[in-house]
Amino acid sequence: MAESLYIHIPFCNRICTYCDFNKVLINNQPVDGYLDALIRELQTIEAQSLRTIFVGGGTPTALSEAQLSRLLAAVTDRFQVTEEFTFEANPDELTPGKLDVLNNYGVNRISLGVQTFNEDLLKVLGRSHGYDDIFNAINHMEKIGLDNYSLDLMYNLPGETMQDLDDSLRHVRTLSPKHISWYSLIIEPHTVFYNQIRKGRMKVDDDDIEGQKYEHVINGLRALGYPQYEISNFSQPAFESEHNKTYWKNAPYYGAGAGSHGYIDNTRYYNIKPVNHYIQSMEEKGSVVKETLELDRKAQMEEEMFLGLRMNRGVDVERFGSKFGRSMDDVYGSVIRQEMDKGHVRSSRGYIALTDKGRMVGNTVFMEFLL
Ligand code: SF4
Repeated sequence: MAESLYIHIPFCNRICTYCDFNKVLINNQPVDGYLDALIRELQTIEAQSLRTIFVGGGTPTALSEAQLSRLLAAVTDRFQVTEEFTFEANPDELTPGKLDVLNNYGVNRISLGVQTFNEDLLKVLGRSHGYDDIFNAINHMEKIGLDNYSLDLMYNLPGETMQDLDDSLRHVRTLSPKHISWYSLIIEPHTVFYNQIRKGRMKVDDDDIEGQKYEHVINGLRALGYPQYEISNFSQPAFESEHNKTYWKNAPYYGAGAGSHGYIDNTRYYNIKPVNHYIQSMEEKGSVVKETLELDRKAQMEEEMFLGLRMNRGVDVERFGSKFGRSMDDVYGSVIRQEMDKGHVRSSRGYIALTDKGRMVGNTVFMEFLL
C-alpha cells in the first residue's frame, strides 16, 4: 500500500511570469467549494496511516487561516502522519497566525518558495514577496521551533550573475536551512517568459553557462555541508526529502486535488485540472480522476531507472531484481557497460548511479535506458 500522499491547492495570490503549474488567481475562486471536494476525495483514499504528506500548489498558504484549519483538520482526522508532513509556503504569506495553524496540526516541514535573494530578480519573476519577507518568514518559523525547512531556489534566471549565486550561497551559510532545492529555470510554453524570449525581449544563459552555474551551485553547497542527493536537491545529513524520494524510488503514492496525479498498483492516475470541473465532477460522480495509465513491465523498468538515476545514490540493483523478477544485468547490462565506458555511470555498493560527468548530460543518459 502507498505510504505517501500529495495534496494540491491550485490557488495563488499572484501569477509568476515563469509558471506553468496548475494554478489560478485566488480572487473570485470557489475556494470553499474546492476544499469540500478535496476533503471528499481524501475520504476515498484507503490508507489510514501515511509516512509522508506534501501539500503543494499553487500556493497552499494563499488559503485563509480558517481554510487552512478546515483542510488540516480533515487531513489529520483522516490520516495519521508518521514521519514527514510538508507544507509549501510563500514567504509573504507565512504569517505567524498561519504558521500557528500549521504547527498545531503537526506540519513538521516547510518548503519555502524563496527562488532568489536578489530583489530585482524577484520582480522579474513576478513573485509576490520581497527580500525582507524571506527573513520575516524564517524568523516566525524559528520562533515556534519549526526549523526543518527547505529553501527553494532557482538559477539560470534572466540577467542573473555568478555574484547572485554567491549571494544566495552566502545566505545559505548564514541561515543554515536543513534542505535546499535549487532548480534551473525551465522556460515553459504559454508563460510570460516564453513569450518575452520569443519576441527577443529577454534572454537566458546558453547551455555552457547554465552548466557552469550548475557546477557552481553543487560545489558551493557541498563546501557548506549540503551534499547533493538528487539532481536539484541538497541537504544536511538526515534531512533529505522523504516525500520526494518516494517519487524517485518509483514507489506508489496517492495524489489528491485538481491536476494532481498518483501511482497505485502500477497505474498512474491523473485528476481533472480546472477547479470548477474538479468540483463538479466530485459533486456529480463522486470521482475526479480524468484518466488512468497502466504501466506495462517495460515502462515500469524504464521508470525505475530514469527516476532512480536522479538520486546520487542511484538505483538499488537488488530491489530491481526482486521487483521485476529479472536481474538489472539481464535487462540493462549492455547499456550500463556502455555508459560506464563513457564515464556516465558507476556501480557502487549495490547501486547503479550517475557520475558527476553523467549528471551534466543526465537526459541523454536516461534515454539510453529506454527499452
Ligand atoms: S506562486 Fe508558485 S504556483 Fe503560484 S504562480 Fe508563482 S510559481 Fe506558480
